[in-house]
Amino acid sequence: MQRKRAFINPNICDRCDICPSQANCPTKSIVREEKGEPWYVDVQCIGCGKCTRLCVKQAITLV
Ligand code: SF4
Ligand code: SF4
Repeated sequence: MQRKRAFINPNICDRCDICPSQANCPTKSIVREEKGEPWYVDVQCIGCGKCTRLCVKQAITLV
């Protein structure tokens, strides 16, 4: 079975400057190019699901 990865819906993400999901990701997989942009999930995500519980807008799902 293929491992799931986190997905941040850019239409829901509030672009928080301090993103608790990003701050607590064990693989530092939540990134963005510039301040003010939505965060996105990079390839090294291990699908642990921690970020889904910490997002303030429920913008993250495992897919
Ligand atoms: S906490 Fe959720 S809504 Fe806020 S920046 Fe992070 S992913 Fe986006
Ligand atoms: S599922 Fe785990 S590894 Fe993937 S982005 Fe969320 S906290 Fe990071």
